[in-house]
Amino acid sequence: MANILGGIATSHTPTIGFAVDTKKQDEPSWSPIFEGYAPMKAWLEKGKADVIFYIFNDHMTSFFIDHYSHFALGVGETYPVADEGGGPRDLPPLKGHPEMAAHIAQCLTTEEFDLSYFQDKALDHGCFSPLSAILPYEPDWPAKVIPLQIGVLQSPSPTAARCFKLGQALGRAIRSFPEDLNVVIASTGGLSHQVHGERCGFNNTEWDMKFMELLEKDPQALTKYTIADLVKLGGAEGAEIVMWLVMRGALNPQVRCLHKSYYLPSMTGIASLIFEPEESSTPALDTEWYNKRAYAQLEGLEDVEGTYPLTLKSGVRAYRINKFLHQLIRPEFREAFLNDFDNCADSYALTDEEKTMIRERDWQGMIRYGVIFFMLEKLGAVTGVSNLHIYAAMRGQTIEEFQQTRNAQVTYSVAGKEKLNKFA
Ligand code: FE
Repeated sequence: MANILGGIATSHTPTIGFAVDTKKQDEPSWSPIFEGYAPMKAWLEKGKADVIFYIFNDHMTSFFIDHYSHFALGVGETYPVADEGGGPRDLPPLKGHPEMAAHIAQCLTTEEFDLSYFQDKALDHGCFSPLSAILPYEPDWPAKVIPLQIGVLQSPSPTAARCFKLGQALGRAIRSFPEDLNVVIASTGGLSHQVHGERCGFNNTEWDMKFMELLEKDPQALTKYTIADLVKLGGAEGAEIVMWLVMRGALNPQVRCLHKSYYLPSMTGIASLIFEPEESSTPALDTEWYNKRAYAQLEGLEDVEGTYPLTLKSGVRAYRINKFLHQLIRPEFREAFLNDFDNCADSYALTDEEKTMIRERDWQGMIRYGVIFFMLEKLGAVTGVSNLHIYAAMRGQTIEEFQQTRNAQVTYSVAGKEKLNKFA
C-alpha cells in the first residue's frame, strides 16, 4: 500500500521562480528564500518520494472563468509549463501518475467529492514556481506529480472546512492505493497578500504566524474561519491558504513540524513548512473494505457485453485520437481534415493504426480502441455518414437490417445547418 511520508506547505508566488531563473541565491534580498527552502530540499531528497500530490491554484492561465470548478484533478501523463505572458519557463514538463490519480478519483467520488478531471493542460507559477526551488529538475524531475487545482479565485469557492474534509478523504485514498509507493503531499499558496485594489500590498505577519501554528496543532480550529474572515486577516489572494488544509487533513491528527520558515521580501509572506505524521495517531483504515466500497459502483460492469465505458484509463490512453476528432467542431479544422487528412493527422502525431481506423471509418474498431462515441458522431457529420449508419456498422449490420430493429425507419445526424439537407 502507498505510504504518506509527510506534507509540505509553501507559498507559490512567482517571485520564487524568478529568483531561481535569475540565479539570485547569493543576493542578500533573495537568499532568505533559498535558505528557507534548503531543509525542504534536503528532506525531499532524503525521502525519495515516488509521487508528489501537489495542491495549487492556477491564476487564470489554464483554468479560466469559461469553465471554473472547485476541485480539478490532473489524471494525465504529462504537464508542461504554461506561458503566462512572456513564454514558458525553461523547465521540463512534469510526469503524472495516471494510475494513482484514477484510484484517488474513484475513492474521492465514493466519499462524495465531485471532482473535475484534466489532462493536457499547461500549469502556471502556482505549480512550477516553488517546485523549481525545492526539487532538482535537470535533466528531469525526480518524482511523478499528481496536480490538484483548486478554484479559489472565484466566489463561491471551497470553504476551509470542505478543504480539510477533502484532505482527510485524500489521505484514505492514497493509503489504500495498492502499490508500495512513497507519497508527499504538497500544498501551496499564501501566505498573507493582496495584489488588487486599493488594499493591494496588504500583509499580516501576525496572522501568518498564527495560521501556521494552528495548522500544525489545531487544524480543526481553522475550519471555523469563513472566506471573509480569511480575506480580512490575510488579504484577498491570501485566502488561498485554504489549500493548506487539504494537505493537513491528509496527514495524521498529530504531526511533527520538522521545519518552519517565513520571509516577507515584497508582496507575499514566503513560508515553508514540513510536517511528518506522528505514527501513534495514524487513523485506522481497513484498506480491503475501503477499496471494495470504492469500486462497488463498477462491480460487474465488465460483464456487460458490447459495452465500452469511458474511464479515466481509456480517456488517458486514447487521448490523442479523441483530441484529434474533437477538433472537428472547428470549421477550419474540418476543412483541413477533408482537404488533406494525412497532413492533418500528422500534425497531431496520430499513429498509423489511428490514421487507418479514421480513414477506413472503422467505427467499431475506434470504439474498442477507446474513441468516445460522440467523436464518431462528429466524424460522421463531417464525412456525410448518418448516426444510423454508425449504429448499424458497430453491430455488424447493414443500415437496412439495423433499421428493421427500430420502430421507425429514419436517419439523422448532429450535422448542423451546413449539412442539414444531406441527412434529411
Ligand atoms: Fe496564488
